[in-house]
Amino acid sequence: MILYGDYHTHTVYSHGSGTVEENATAAMEKGLKQIGISDHGFSHPFYGLKKKKLPFLREDCARAEDKTGVRVLVGIESNFIKSDGSCDLTEDYYDKFDIFLAGAHVFAGYKDFSSFWNMGVLFPLASSFRREINGKAKAKMTEVYINAVRRLPIDVITHLDFRVFANVKEVAACCREYGTYIEINTKKAHMTDEQWKEVADTGVNFVIGSDAHSPDRVADAHSAFDLMDRLGIEPERVHNVNRLPDFRFAKYKGVKL
Ligand SMILES: [Zn+2]
Ligand SMILES: [Zn+2]
Repeated sequence: MILYGDYHTHTVYSHGSGTVEENATAAMEKGLKQIGISDHGFSHPFYGLKKKKLPFLREDCARAEDKTGVRVLVGIESNFIKSDGSCDLTEDYYDKFDIFLAGAHVFAGYKDFSSFWNMGVLFPLASSFRREINGKAKAKMTEVYINAVRRLPIDVITHLDFRVFANVKEVAACCREYGTYIEINTKKAHMTDEQWKEVADTGVNFVIGSDAHSPDRVADAHSAFDLMDRLGIEPERVHNVNRLPDFRFAKYKGVKL
């Protein structure tokens, strides 16, 4: 199995330690054809990508691509900010990005109380104390994921169920219907094999993402390959292994990556 692209990497534009060029160089050294620079969404108060820095990010990506020969995609790991599935990457910024990743994060700039309470307080606390959560809150979070995937051309759901609680099977079934990938994140190992089995049984497709916050972790796919072996997930289902993904966002915008 050969990894062709890593679409979830962070840089100094959010809270990664490497520059765009350092991540791209690591990608080149590891034999990737593509890398995504997907820093945290705008609404995150501590390490969100700053809108005024966007032109520099785009310039850095173009320069790193020239230098390394690796296709460097301008991405974002957007935050869910509202119960209706709204993300902090809004349509007026779509032309500035190549790929659209989305995930639930603590401290994102939530736009309604329910999102603040569930994603900002209740879920992080419960997961810190390893407590299960009541069905109602879990159903609400499941709805956030599903609303987002239905409404927005999201390419990848990052670290599904991490520090939140959702019905992973329902989210995966929705992703399958809309052509959004579920990420096998190699930095976070929070989901059980039973959960992964439920997700895989929906027929959804996957991408592996390193969630690298330093260049040395770019293209780290080991734990994802182990998971695939263990659960019998065929490489054909993982669209950045032995091939390049069909990204929904590019299709939505009518552009070729
Ligand atoms: Zn994340
Ligand atoms: Zn991340």
